[in-house]
Amino acid sequence: MARPLLSTGSQEMTSILHCGDEERGTLWRDVFAREMPEVDFRCWPDLGDPQEIRFLVAWTLTPELIASLPNLEILFSIGAGVDQLDLGLVPPHVRVVRMIEPGITVTMAQYIVMATLALHRDLPFYVAEQRAGRWTQRDVLLCSERTVGFLGLGELARASIKALAPLGFKVLGWSRSGANIAGVETYAGAEGLDPFLARCEILVCLLPLTDDTRGILCRSLFERLPRGAAIINAARGGHLVADDLCAALDDGRLSAAFLDVASPEPLPEGHPFYSHPAIFLTPHIAGVTRRETAVHALIGNLQRVLAGEEPDGEVDRSRGY
Ligand code: NAP
Repeated sequence: MARPLLSTGSQEMTSILHCGDEERGTLWRDVFAREMPEVDFRCWPDLGDPQEIRFLVAWTLTPELIASLPNLEILFSIGAGVDQLDLGLVPPHVRVVRMIEPGITVTMAQYIVMATLALHRDLPFYVAEQRAGRWTQRDVLLCSERTVGFLGLGELARASIKALAPLGFKVLGWSRSGANIAGVETYAGAEGLDPFLARCEILVCLLPLTDDTRGILCRSLFERLPRGAAIINAARGGHLVADDLCAALDDGRLSAAFLDVASPEPLPEGHPFYSHPAIFLTPHIAGVTRRETAVHALIGNLQRVLAGEEPDGEVDRSRGY
């Protein structure tokens, strides 16, 4: 059931504050002026009267920013995740909504298809062979002979699974609640993890980063995968224990890794991920919030909220995602 907004001044103009990239703020202000003129779109640091601001859209927060907004009702994240926002700064009554928009979903699904196919067709091995000046052939498997498992079965995993479907991989999934997804064998919770991992030849991490999932991609998890499995981490760098990954690749426990995220970002010069022959590293570009499409997702959500409906992507603050 829709929750009432705290504000009762429905005749007053609604104000939203954008805090972040200036170019995006200017573009979004223009789109709001055309498509939702009843909303006063402001760009930090031009707050106007801060009492009037009911909504905030931001990638990160500062204590000063939150303290300056006494009537904040909803915080909209510019990203699909909210772990980059220090929610400890945000009063408990403020609702938090993450970004669900086609730019992120489509680009993430493409990245997962690319990485899965690259691992399935042994690209890391062939790149290493090419660099060493060797011409070595390996057996080729059909997609139907390969099992791909997803840690997390939310928006992005489901879009990726859908994009992979025509290729015919065997697909497994693991989540807290064990979702029901056509064509996917799913597992739930702590007791489902071991039997799930034992079957994953390619493991894709698309979990949110929470206290429960931090460091989940570690030695003990790698040891429960079939020997020679490969991993794709497109979630957050904090899910992965970097030294454990390098050790598992070096001793052949894992064969390769596609990493789109790292901790910290950017990785410092000389970090082993830059030069490890079995690691393909990209700089957090898998699922990109596109300015041009995300603004319409934000407008759609604001329209829902102002009509007394639930926004898409509300975060359960007690779970952290
Ligand atoms: P989502 O819709 O919130 O889905 C999260 C999934 O993870 C759900 O299936 C949830 O299970 C599961 N989960 C959460 N905690 C769990 C736990 N402790 N044990 C088992 N399963 C757990 O999230 P999303 O939109 O798919 O996004 C996932 C993450 O991708 C984001 O949080 C963000 O960190 C990352 N991301 C990365 C990029 C990039 O460019 N690399 C871009 C966007 C997002 P239930 O279904 O049971 O709740």
